[in-house]
Amino acid sequence: MNTQTNFDLVLFGATGDLAMRKLLPCLYQAHVAGLLHPAGRILGVSRSELDTAGFLAKVETNSKIHIKQNFSEEAWASFIKRIHYLTVDVTNPDDFKTLADTVKARKETDNVVVYLSTAPKFFAPACAELANVGLNGGNVRIVLEKPLGTDLKSSQEINTDVARYFKEEQVYRIDHYLGKEALQNLLALRFANLVFEPLWNNKYVKSVQLTIAEQLGVEERGEFYDITGALRDMVQNHLMQMLCMTAMEAPKSLDADDVRDEKLKVIKSLKPLTSADVDADVVRAQYTENKGMNGYLQEHNVPAGSRTETYVAVKAEINNERWAGVPFYLRTGKRMAGKVAEIVLNFRDLPNHIFENSQPAPNRLVIELQPTESVRLYTQVKTPGAGNKVELTALSVDMGKAIQGRRAEAYERLLLDVINGKLALFNRRDELEAAWEWVMPIMENWENSPTPPHGYAADSWGPEAARELLARNGDKWHEEQ
Ligand code: NAP
Repeated sequence: MNTQTNFDLVLFGATGDLAMRKLLPCLYQAHVAGLLHPAGRILGVSRSELDTAGFLAKVETNSKIHIKQNFSEEAWASFIKRIHYLTVDVTNPDDFKTLADTVKARKETDNVVVYLSTAPKFFAPACAELANVGLNGGNVRIVLEKPLGTDLKSSQEINTDVARYFKEEQVYRIDHYLGKEALQNLLALRFANLVFEPLWNNKYVKSVQLTIAEQLGVEERGEFYDITGALRDMVQNHLMQMLCMTAMEAPKSLDADDVRDEKLKVIKSLKPLTSADVDADVVRAQYTENKGMNGYLQEHNVPAGSRTETYVAVKAEINNERWAGVPFYLRTGKRMAGKVAEIVLNFRDLPNHIFENSQPAPNRLVIELQPTESVRLYTQVKTPGAGNKVELTALSVDMGKAIQGRRAEAYERLLLDVINGKLALFNRRDELEAAWEWVMPIMENWENSPTPPHGYAADSWGPEAARELLARNGDKWHEEQ
């Protein structure tokens, strides 16, 4: 993919962690790969009183260290020529006039991307000020980082405020999981092959598991994490996107709205959770001290007695013809025994067994998003020698090894898509709000519940209650299969 689109990328929060650690290094990679228009400009903005040289000194110390491949001093020198800096305090209207003058002075720009890598409370005021200075015309795109609100109401408020100044097709809501190759590959696996789709339904699939497990704890981010928790941080967004890509029908085309219409249908078909469902089908838990690792409540800046969940498991059901009766287990946790993001389809048992094993394990398809990008189809093969036993063995494809070519990080792909005006990998408003609507009963139940979170030992696969959740249906989590 090459872009001829000349652009001005106005990067709010340019001095922040996300910009330094991810956005600028990803832009560097796109630059080195020749994917940015030669005249495309990156205009870093934030509150700090800096000039371009001062900002570049920060980039040199805080961002360059995050470039893990394709680094050369020569390429770096040509990359940073794109970067300029301007002090813009979101709360100061005069700063926006200077910003508008700077952007508008450059006549040859095809489009202006304004990336709001700041706290969400600045989204609405920034949009208002941008509109005030005329930076909301048809050639302006606005990128909103997650989290977009903390519940349905706050999300609707932000979206309504943004919609006062920008049309929906100008708004790019980031969920970086959608930028992951392996998740996009799921659509190719399902809709560009004949062999999987006929089996991709309740007749052949017994259960589906979606996991995002992290080994890290909350580290120094206790204060941020405690007001967020795993449900808001992972379930409402990343796990929901994984669920949509797994469960959706084939879209009419890969055009943005065709894909997003199908994803929305999945979210709308999720069985709404009553409070009794939450008690029965949702497990919240906190990690506890183990092997010299702190428990959540011992972490820096976590308030005593906090009930914030560092682990969630949910049994979801999709009420449509394809999936009725198939449990979708979503789980995510910190301080788990492994770092993995994966989708597992457990197929049903064969109706009849003719091999010697009394009960051969059923087939299983594992789509791993990280740490590797791979697909493994567990199939029965005969064990060598006399006898007629079978053994479950993986037919495995590691995408990184099987298909040559540079694999871009999620943020690089997403940045290029915004510059090129491709909306397919971004959340539409109705999709995002439907996802909030579905998780709200969980949040409401937890707020009022007298039951504290379960505990699970740091460096384990989660609480016993999550094991029991699956056992009720005769299922097991993937690591136990
Ligand atoms: P951060 O390190 O706290 O940086 C915040 C940025 O906002 C700084 O550049 C700061 O500028 C700027 N800022 C603060 N007040 C401002 C104001 N009044 N006017 C203009 N700029 C102002 O935050 P971050 O971690 O980069 O996160 C940015 C956004 O991305 C947040 O919405 C976050 O939730 C989201 N996000 C972050 C990550 C991550 O890994 N960090 C991952 C996913 C999503 P000064 O330094 O000049 O004050």
